[in-house]
Amino acid sequence: MQNVQKIFKSFILLELFRGLKLTGRYFFAKKITVQYPEEKTPQSPRFRGLHALRRYPSGEERCIACKLCEVVCPALAITIEAEPRPDGSRRTTRYDIDLFKCIYCGFCEEACPVDAIVETRIFEYHFEDRAESIMTKEKLLAVGDREEARIASDRAYDSAYR
Ligand code: SF4
Ligand code: SF4
Repeated sequence: MQNVQKIFKSFILLELFRGLKLTGRYFFAKKITVQYPEEKTPQSPRFRGLHALRRYPSGEERCIACKLCEVVCPALAITIEAEPRPDGSRRTTRYDIDLFKCIYCGFCEEACPVDAIVETRIFEYHFEDRAESIMTKEKLLAVGDREEARIASDRAYDSAYR
């Protein structure tokens, strides 16, 4: 008897119509696939993307070369060299982040006492040369200068809800 039922179902293409019914349901349903890169998903103000070094409004760099970020980095991605300036203040002469080593944990940002090293919302970047994976102090400061407005507003939002 079961065999007869099976043959009958195959004859009227029952499985095929069941499949088409399911396809039809999803064909007309609201689409949830994001068409990246034309469409973007919302980003958290705490997003941890490309790093930046910040300056004070006066233009002076925030970093005081305390090396806390270098010590706390679990991936040993940060290399800092520092020396005192003629005015006695201490500043970095070298601040490199190896993006191939970085795991974007945010520990450097957390450790920094002056909010100098931060992770921005930038996540779309690429390298064409291996050497470009090193973010030098100049590159980090340039990202900071470019992104300062958004960094400042994200920090303000973060401290309001912390
Ligand atoms: S985000 Fe984490 S891994 Fe990357 S440089 Fe900072 S502390 Fe190191
Ligand atoms: S970025 Fe912050 S934690 Fe790192 S050396 Fe500079 S002041 Fe210290």
